[in-house]
Amino acid sequence: MGEHILIVDDDAAIRDSMLEFITRSGYNAQTVSSAEEAIELLKSTPVDLVITDIILPGRNGLQLTDLIKQNYDIDIIVMTGYSENYSYEEAINKGASDLVFKPFRFEELILRLKRVLKERRLAKDRNRILSKLENLAITDGLTKLYNLRHFYNQVEIEIDRSNRYGHPVALLLLDIDNFKTYNDTYGHLEGDKVLVKLAQIIKSCLRTMDCAYRYGGEEFTIILPETTGEEAKNVAHRIKTSVEIENFFPESGDVVNITISIGVTEYFKKEQLTTFIQRADQAMYNSKAKGRNAISFLLAENAS
Ligand code: GH3
Ligand code: MG
Ligand code: MG
Repeated sequence: MGEHILIVDDDAAIRDSMLEFITRSGYNAQTVSSAEEAIELLKSTPVDLVITDIILPGRNGLQLTDLIKQNYDIDIIVMTGYSENYSYEEAINKGASDLVFKPFRFEELILRLKRVLKERRLAKDRNRILSKLENLAITDGLTKLYNLRHFYNQVEIEIDRSNRYGHPVALLLLDIDNFKTYNDTYGHLEGDKVLVKLAQIIKSCLRTMDCAYRYGGEEFTIILPETTGEEAKNVAHRIKTSVEIENFFPESGDVVNITISIGVTEYFKKEQLTTFIQRADQAMYNSKAKGRNAISFLLAENAS
């Protein structure tokens, strides 16, 4: 019951007795006497549930509900008198979780409060699990980089943006050199460790807006939004050098260095996504042809 409750009522007697009862039931609670005070308090105090009267001086309880719902993840129970013409529907439509009619028995209020808080906890758990699942679906299990599925989603978003606003977007494709030999010499598990470490090196070389993906077995790709091919070459150099100087220690006791071949390209307005990706791939193969541990840059043929 770590939830924090805020009571909003302009009637001091109701306010105080509610506070006493709710606190005695084991909750953290505090009171204010107007919507304005509540709004001020919410700026600095995390609150889970607001219980507010509808009739208040200044802004009323439904307006307060509206404002809270637009700005915070807070549940709200509104209170209204039988003689006031506010309906259950009206309160729920504003985003309230429940409505109680005054005068109420405190036991009833506590029951409603418990139910709202329980549903809140369940919703939070559900959202946590959902976002975990969403993350799993786009993450590569071994390297913890984003996977190919997410790459395709993101690259489409970026070229869409590029076509719309004319901003540049660059792509890097990286492939480990002679990785089969590494696997054959030290074993697949040792090869996997290289992939994990490489992913960390790549990440450490990126700016916050750049994003790395595991493209395939031992291939990685990086989307660089708002970046020209020329600028992307600098990122490629940074990665190439960082990989080159890293020592790997397979269990055999050897100290091994690995290298990567990189292809760099920039998106050309309106071209097909596949053309863009294939050009990065071609650039990467040019690096292999140059003898590996190299960077190659290819622009679209019709790009000036
Ligand atoms: P190149 O310089 O031409 O890229 O040579 P290479 O040996 O790296 O290329 P090739 O395509 O012949 O082999 C890629 C190797 O990458 C094959 C496979 O053993 C290894 N590989 C692919 N995925 C994984 C993986 O998930 N784990 C490990 N350990 N190895 C992988
Ligand atoms: Mg490969
Ligand atoms: Mg390779």
